[in-house]
This record gives sequence, C-alpha cells and structure tokens, in this order.
Amino acid sequence: MAATSPIYIILLGAPGAGKGTQARLLAEKLSIPQVASGDLFRENLGNNTPLGLLAKGYIDRGELVPDDVTIRMVQERLHRSDAVRGAILDGFPRTIAQAEALARVLAQADRRIACVPYIRVSEKSLLARLSGRWICPICQTTYHVLYSPPKVSGICDKDGSILYQRPDDTEETARNRLQVYFQQTAPLIEYYRGKGLLVEVDGEQSIEAVQGALDDVVAQHVARLAL
Ligand code: ADP
Ligand code: ADP
Repeated sequence: MAATSPIYIILLGAPGAGKGTQARLLAEKLSIPQVASGDLFRENLGNNTPLGLLAKGYIDRGELVPDDVTIRMVQERLHRSDAVRGAILDGFPRTIAQAEALARVLAQADRRIACVPYIRVSEKSLLARLSGRWICPICQTTYHVLYSPPKVSGICDKDGSILYQRPDDTEETARNRLQVYFQQTAPLIEYYRGKGLLVEVDGEQSIEAVQGALDDVVAQHVARLAL
C-alpha cells in the first residue's frame, strides 16, 4: 500500500462502534499515528494539565468538549513530526465546525482526506460494547470482556498492566454520549457523503471481518490519492 502523499483517514462512528480498535490496527498497517481526541483528553486529565481540568467536566457528563479547545489540541497533534505522513483520526471531528476546521488545516498544507469510513453499529450493540469495554492505562489497548478478552482476565496482553473501565462507560453516561452523538456527530455522515468521501462499513461483524473490510476500502482510496 505504498503512497507518496500523506494519508488522512477519518473513522466515523458512534461511541463503541470500534473506531479505536480499528484505528490502532490501521495505524500499524500504514505506519502512521492514530490520533484519538479522547485519548489526548485523557492523557491531559492524567497529567492534570489546564486542558485536562477544563475537559474533565464535559467528559464526566458525556458531553462534547468545546470546539475551539478541541480543534487547537488536534491541530497541535497533527503538526508533530510523527504525523508528517498523515494520521488515522479517531473521534475527531465530532461536529461540523470541527470538520470545517480540519478541512482548512489540511487545505493550508495542500493535503487531502483519503476517505471517511463510517462504522455502522446498532444502538443495542453499542451499549453492549461500552458496558464490557476494558482499557490498558499504559498502551490504551482496548479489550471487551466477551468479544475481545485479554488472555489473563483483567491484565493487558501487551504490557501486563491492570486494565480499567472508563468512568464514562457506565450505562447512564454512555446513553447520554449516544444522544450527543446522534445530535452533534451523526450529521457528519451526510456532510462527508456530500463530499464523496464516505464509505459505509458494517460494524456488526467480528473485529477481524471489520478490519478486512476497512483494509479493502483504504487500499482503494489510498491508491486514488497517488493518482
Ligand atoms: P470506539 O473507539 O468507537 O468507542 P472501541 O474500539 O473502543 O470503540 O470498541 C468498543 C468496545 O467494543 C471495546 O470493548 C472493543 O473491544 C469492542 N469491539 C470493537 N469492535 C468490535 C466488534 N467488531 N465486535 C465486537 N466487539 C467489538
Ligand atoms: P468513544 O471512544 O466512546 O467514542 P472518546 O474516547 O472518543 O469516546 O471520547 C471520550 C470523551 O472525550 C467524549 O465523550 C467527549 O467528552 C471528549 N471528546 C473526545 N473527542 C472529542 C471531540 N472531537 N470533540 C469534543 N469532545 C470530544
């Protein structure tokens, strides 16, 4: 999958759709970083930075952090040296304003989005996925108690850390996050469809089957970038 142009792929989907799981696999395959806005906020929270403290209330309530700070944070991340060949965007953009800001940033650098795979998953499956999600605090690898369990219960396969459940994955906050998604983020589906970038992927399949479908989609679009 060689391409000389930088590759920007946006993974769109509701909380729990599998964006993080697939972003990690794609990033490894394409040797470009996964840029996950939620991970960046949690990193800031863990380090008690002013940005982390600002974001905390929004994250705890399952609301979106305001656009201006979110855009600045992601823009700064995309300008780091490891992202010169592009990035897999996971969880950003989440509003039309964020999508327009991203379009401006990429246009200024004469860069284009390769494609926007939309991982479609039913609401029932989303809630089941969020309630069973466990995460490694060190490497951020995501597990599921039923669908993707670690080899030893509660322990990360990769670095042996003790896994944790995100406080915003409790049922009440997860339901609120899904409402916020339907109101503020779902309009991006039509936004990117209108730009000819959206590709729907059936996210109800196994992790491996979704990975295979995404690999095919990405290979086609990356090949077009090189034209
Ligand atoms: P998102 O980043 O979109 O919120 P994650 O990648 O964190 O989603 O996945 C949410 C949960 O669902 C995790 O526990 C993950 O292991 C699990 N998961 C991801 N993809 C699938 C899939 N295709 N089938 C079943 N479970 C999945
Ligand atoms: P999920 O994996 O369930 O989709 P994330 O880890 O991406 O969740 O996001 C967790 C929380 O971080 C969100 O509920 C929101 O408060 C904040 N957040 C993450 N990305 C954004 C964004 N692009 N815009 C605003 N808030 C965001």
